[in-house]
Amino acid sequence: MTATRPQPRPGVLDIEAYVPGKSSAPGVAKIFKLSSNETPLGPSPRAIAAYKTWADHLEDYPDGSASELRDAIGRAFGLDPDRIVCGAGSDDLLHLLAHAYLVDGDEAIHTTHGFLVYPIATLGAGAKPVVAPETDFTADVDAILERVTARTKIVFLANPNNPTGTCLAFDEVKRLHRSLPPHVLLVLDAAYAEYVQRNDYEAGIELVATSENVVMCRTFSKIHGLAALRLGWMFGPAHIVDAINRIRGPFNVTGPAIAAGIAAIEDLEHQERSREHNARWRDWLMQEIGKLGLEVTPSVANFVLIHFPHTKGRTAKDADAFLSARGLILRQTTAYKLPHALRMSVGTEEANRLVLAALKEFLAKAA
Ligand SMILES: *Cc1c(COP(=O)(O)O)cnc(C)c1O
Repeated sequence: MTATRPQPRPGVLDIEAYVPGKSSAPGVAKIFKLSSNETPLGPSPRAIAAYKTWADHLEDYPDGSASELRDAIGRAFGLDPDRIVCGAGSDDLLHLLAHAYLVDGDEAIHTTHGFLVYPIATLGAGAKPVVAPETDFTADVDAILERVTARTKIVFLANPNNPTGTCLAFDEVKRLHRSLPPHVLLVLDAAYAEYVQRNDYEAGIELVATSENVVMCRTFSKIHGLAALRLGWMFGPAHIVDAINRIRGPFNVTGPAIAAGIAAIEDLEHQERSREHNARWRDWLMQEIGKLGLEVTPSVANFVLIHFPHTKGRTAKDADAFLSARGLILRQTTAYKLPHALRMSVGTEEANRLVLAALKEFLAKAA
């Protein structure tokens, strides 16, 4: 039968549209937005300056191949720039990978509390998201491998994962890769790699460089503080880079983003300052919130996952309302199958102390 109006492909209307972290609280004058893992230190001043110089050239198309940015990334990480593709945020690249490598009826695996963009990109490509359970809020390599079938084409792994803040040791990632059939693409999403200070962690560069079926995605939205500009990159084998370059938008990253990105990746001092601030306050938050009697999942990233009791008056929902009324905006994680938790981005010292004080008050009031 002929449809009476245009129909999206099967799967599209099964997508639950991504709901970003809140950015306002009605009636509250001063807001501390701790709901989207943005950096409290902002971008490098040099990135801001580079961005502003573009204001005089807005009529010009950007360099469609982002060569200078890829060169700068290549220098920073010791990579061949020809094996790098830039995107409008790593979201862009995740969607491109899904569209290039999935067809109707294929399967793509992600973990229970994995990043929401994976099932969205999978369904958008007409394929089926397959969920692998986690252990202790951490990806479980055996559970992923058990779900691999002849139809599996992609495994999405956020390492570290958002919103849990946990990561897999490189040995485990290598074990996952070793056991995957060669036709399965392993997507390592390392959006928070810069924050990890564990010796057993590796973002994936070595694995990409030595195999034909692994890509690593990175972003300028987190430690580089350029979320508004939408900029990410991936490093992959030549044949995958070739495929993505064929389907991406010819000017998928903007001129101002390229300029700011180059300045940001070269400002190592700013990155180090951000990393230090984050490590100090992330560890402080885990410890102090833990002392209040709330469980906090140990995090290696720039946010913490706080678990709340299920009892009336003390739930995550109650806490969210209490904090929001004070201008402290955390992230509800119900869509991530974590209805009893809130995710808090590491903020400024002021914001972190205010959240701790408010949580203390919240728990005392509810007792
Ligand atoms: C924030 C985040 C990204 C980055 O997305 P952009 O589109 O680059 O802003 C990617 N993956 C995960 C898991 C994230 O949390």
